[in-house]
This record gives sequence, structure tokens and C-alpha cells, in this order.
Amino acid sequence: MLRLANFLLSRKSWKHWIAVVALSVAATEVIVATMSWLLLGRIAPDYLLTGMVASLLVASLVSTLLLLLADKSRALACSLADSESKLRTLFELSPLGIALTDREGLHVEFNAAYLRISGYAEEELRALDCRALTTPEFAEEEARHYELLARDGRNGPYEKAIRCRDGSQMPVRANAIQVRGGANRQYVWTIIEDISEQKLKDKLIWTQANYDALTGLPNRHLLMDLMQMSLATSQRNGLHGAMLLLDLDHFKTLNDTLGHGQGDKLLREVANRLRSLVRNQDTIARLGGDEFMVLLEDLSQEATEAAVQAEVVAENIRAGLGQPFVLDRTEHHISSSIGIVLFLGRRRPLEDLVSYADAAMYQAKSDGRNTIRFHDPKMQAVLEKRGALEQSIRLALSRNEFRLHYQLQVDQHGKGMGVEALIRWQHPEQGTVSPADFIPVAEETGLIVPIGKWVMETACRQIKDWRDNPDMAGLTVAVNVSARQFQDPDFVAHVRELVELNAIPCGHLKLELTESMVLHQVEESIRKMEVLRKLGVRFSLDDFGTCYSSLAYLKRLPLDQIKIDRSFVLDITHDPNDAVIVKAILSLAGSLGLDAIAEGVETGEQRNFLELHGCLAYQGFLYSRPVPAEVLEQEMATRPA
Ligand code: C2E
Ligand code: MG
Ligand code: MG
Repeated sequence: MLRLANFLLSRKSWKHWIAVVALSVAATEVIVATMSWLLLGRIAPDYLLTGMVASLLVASLVSTLLLLLADKSRALACSLADSESKLRTLFELSPLGIALTDREGLHVEFNAAYLRISGYAEEELRALDCRALTTPEFAEEEARHYELLARDGRNGPYEKAIRCRDGSQMPVRANAIQVRGGANRQYVWTIIEDISEQKLKDKLIWTQANYDALTGLPNRHLLMDLMQMSLATSQRNGLHGAMLLLDLDHFKTLNDTLGHGQGDKLLREVANRLRSLVRNQDTIARLGGDEFMVLLEDLSQEATEAAVQAEVVAENIRAGLGQPFVLDRTEHHISSSIGIVLFLGRRRPLEDLVSYADAAMYQAKSDGRNTIRFHDPKMQAVLEKRGALEQSIRLALSRNEFRLHYQLQVDQHGKGMGVEALIRWQHPEQGTVSPADFIPVAEETGLIVPIGKWVMETACRQIKDWRDNPDMAGLTVAVNVSARQFQDPDFVAHVRELVELNAIPCGHLKLELTESMVLHQVEESIRKMEVLRKLGVRFSLDDFGTCYSSLAYLKRLPLDQIKIDRSFVLDITHDPNDAVIVKAILSLAGSLGLDAIAEGVETGEQRNFLELHGCLAYQGFLYSRPVPAEVLEQEMATRPA
């Protein structure tokens, strides 16, 4: 009773007032009934008794109800507090990072895991906009996730990387949900799970599935994917690619005699050597056993040229693997058989290409091993011819079969002002071989470097010899320099040595460079040219107009002369386009303050046209063919002054 009274007096809701009023009515009626019985000696009227009973009933009912409700809400409050404490414990102990951010992106609440994953201290995170955790690479995708969240009210799970306090990136799986809080404000709960370990495991599994455990090279499985990608690339860019299937010769015997441990070591060494023998962008894979595949991309669009490029790489590999391998301080020699197949786009299915490469490799084996074979017999023939040419160029160098011929260059009065030194190959069986037939191969194989050195030495010696000949002493000797030669680190030192050794007067040695070789490494070229210029060496830009001219660079090159290419001079009097080009070249040379010379001048009409438009120097059959020094000396001696 006391509890009820206490309870009723302590609350002030309308339900309580009903109970109080009902109780008061009941109490009043009890008092009235008692009074009437005591004072009047009569029992209270029926209505009073009924009212009393009803009031009592209402009061007790409402009170009981209220007591029950109060108990229930207390229980509810208790259980709410209980579950809130459980939730808080869960929140704090959860291995998932959980954070609540407000509309402005500020962190309102977060748990210990969130701090641990992000690496921030509590105060730092409180002051941090949640967008600061977005990595720049993921910014665009994150913006899309925010859009989805705004649209659907929730988003996830999705994977992303967060930027941790130390700048590192942590891969996480995220879930986000929008909620409304007090004052109807919008908040976002974000749950993040650290998946770095899982990512590492995934990577490990992927690596195991795609890479060869012994050599670390891509395995057959990955190679197939890479080859499909190569075919697609080739389809897009129109450039050839090549597959080089390589098998070590007699590896089984070596493996059996040395033991598998040493065999494995050797395979690892082969893989390392292969890496050093190809370009970074080329793919090397181990197909199993002693079989490797090298995948070359971005070769020429021309099949023959692409075949030559692939052959150069294959030959490099064959020769490289032919060098001894040192295993436990013992030298071992192995050789390889290589089968090559070219591809262009998706003309042939991948499986066919692989089987062609396989067949070519077996052909190489049956042709005596330690050799290279192409799938295409025509290609094979071209390469064999080229290989033979390379061999004979080497022989020609050692047998001293090269000669220099000199072609006169004249001024507008027909007076000899210089010569161009042009190489000839005095072949013992084939007679004179034109440079057009062997210079390209010499350039590809690097043989141009020793050949170029020989040309430079011979030409410089000639300048020296002509110094005592009054007909020849005033002539400038122009020497053609190829790209490989010019890029050779010893080039400048070699020319300097020759200039000094032969006491070449200033302006008597002229180097003919081409645009493409100079523009390849402009700064380096300019540096080299300037050093040589100080030694009195002059420069002419050969074959001008045949390739894309970059005027911005042309202006910066320390040039003396531009040489108009023969192809423009040929039709200069008939083809209006050529005439326009030549006129443009001449006006360009004039504005750059450079001399101009035209090569391939064969007729008086061509010469007159050139003179009319300001070209005052000529080289061509109209004046003289390239001839040996002695012949030119005689010609010059009999030339009218
Ligand atoms: P180039 O430097 O443009 O040489 C000019 C070529 O035009 C020479 O051919 C020359 O014989 C030819 N020529 C000159 N006047 C006429 C003419 O009136 N009519 C015709 N039809 N042809 C004319 P050549 O000697 O066969 O040389 C071809 C190319 O080989 C040279 O072109 C040059 O790029 C290269 N070359 C020649 N000698 C050397 C050398 O010693 N070193 C290097 N790296 N390349 C060389
Ligand atoms: Mg030339
Ligand atoms: Mg030329």
C-alpha cells in the first residue's frame, strides 16, 4: 500500500492522476458511507455503495496496471541498458573497424579496431574528415560508392584501400549504411574489415597458379593469357609479334649426370640469363622441363623486317646461352634450339601458333641443334641469306675488302669544293657491292661501328694525303655517319684522335648525319656535335626532307649544311610537288642561315632550277660519279679551273 502511495505520489502523468482521483473518490465514498452509518445509523444508499465499489475497482485496476507498466518499463530500461552495454562491448571488441561519421564527414564515433586499421590516434581521427582516408587512386571509385550510398541508403560490401596515417595503403572490405540521428540529422555507419592478409594469400595462390616455382617466370597457364593479350595488341597496332620457343639441347643427360639439384640450379641460371638477353617489355615463360618461351611484341609491320628483328633476338639468346654456366665453380656448356613463329593480329588461333613454334623448334633440333628455325620456309630463306651476308661482312672487314670512293661536290661555277666519301665493297666473287646492300645489315648487327671507324680513318688519312696536292688540298671531305656509330660512346674521342693525328685543318672534315639519328637523343647529339665543332669538324644534314622534320630541334642543332635528298631532285623539273618541296627546303635553309647542297643532280635543267631558287652547291652524276681517290685526282688535275 505504502509502495503504491509512494509510487502514485512520485509520478505526475495523467494515468496517475486517474488512479489518484479514483482512489480519492473511493476514499470519499468510504468516508461518506461510514459517516452516514455512524451518525444516521443507516446504511449508505445503494448508489453510494456501488460507486464506492466501482471507484475502488477502477483505482485498483489502474494502479495495478500502472504498477505493471512501471515494472515493465523498468525491465525494459534495464534490458536496454543491458543490450547497450553488450553492444558497446561488441563495438569496442569487434575486429571490424566501425565508425560513425556525420554529414560533414567528421568522425563522431569509432571503435578500437578502426583506430588500429587506420593507424590514427583517437584525437587525430576526431579532427579528421573521413575523405582523408581515401587513397588518390581510389578517389573516383569512392565517389561512385558515395553516390550509391546516397541513392540506396546503404552500400557494400565492396573492396577498397584506405590511406593509413603512415601513408601506407590498407586493403579493406567496406559496408556503409545511412542512419538518421537526433534532430533528424544524417549519419553514416561504416564498417571496414582488414583484408590485407587475405589479399596476400590470394596473391600467393595466384602466384602459385601462374608462376613457375623454380625460376619465378610465368608458367604455361599465365603465358597463354599473355599471348592472347599480345595477339590483341598486335591486332590493334598492326605490328608483328613473335614467339620464340626454346629448348635446351641434351638437358636430360646433364640433369641425369649432375643430379636434379644441379639441374634445377642450371634452369634457374638459364632463366636469369634469358632475362638479361631480352628487352624489359619482352615476356619470358617456362613451359615446363627445359622448355622456355620468349614472347616479342611491337616488331615491324613488315613481315620480313619483323622476322629479322625476331631472328636478331633469337640469335642473341642462342649465343648468350652458349656462354658457359658456372655451377659450384665448375663450368657447364649448353646449347639451345629455337623455333620462331611470327604473328600479326588474330589471323591464326593461338593454339596453331604454339604448335607451329613447336614444329619449328623440332626442325631446329633435327637440323643439328644449337640453331634457330622459322616456321615459315620463305622467312627462313631470307634469314639464311642475311646470316650469310653478315658472315661475309665480318670476313670483308678482316680481309680489308672495303674501299672508299669519292664523289665531287661543286659550287655554282662548277668549281670543286668538296667530296663525299662513299664506301664500296670489293667482293672477291661478286665484284663491287653497293652500300645499299650491306649497310642496313651492318647497322642491324652493329658491324657498322668497326666499318664506320675504318671509313673515318681512311677519309682522315686521305685529307692528310691531299694536303700536298694543290688540286685536292682545298676540298672538304664529307663522311657518312650511321646512327649506331654516332651513338657509340667512343665516337667523339675517336674523331678527335684522328683530327689531331692527321692535323686536319678546320672545315676540312664534314660529318653527314641524318635527322632521325640526331633527333633520337637531341641533347646528347647537340653536346657531341658541339665538342666536335670546336675541333673544326663541320656538319651536314643528309637526306633532308625524307623524314619528319622537327623545326624546333633543327634550329638548335649546330649544323652547317642541309643536303637536299636525291629523291626530290630527280623530278624537280617535272613534278610540281617536288619543286615546291625543294623551294621550301631552300627557303628554310636560308632562314636558318645554313648552306644547302643538292645531291643526285644529273641534268643541267635540274641544276638551273636549283640555282634559280638559291641552291648554289651540287653533287651528282652531272659532275662526277663516286670514283677511287686516284681517279678523282686525275679528274681534278684535268678539270678547267
Ligand atoms: P647518301 O649518303 O645519300 O649518298 C648519296 C648516294 O647517292 C650515293 O649512293 C651516291 O652514289 C648516289 N648518287 C650521287 N649522285 C647521284 C646521281 O646523280 N644519281 C644517282 N642515281 N645517284 C647518285 P651510294 O654510294 O650507293 O650510297 C648509298 C648510301 O649508302 C648513302 O647515301 C649512305 O647513306 C650510305 N653510305 C655510303 N657510304 C657510307 C659510309 O661510308 N658509311 C655509312 N654509314 N653509310 C654510307
Ligand atoms: Mg651522304
Ligand atoms: Mg643522301
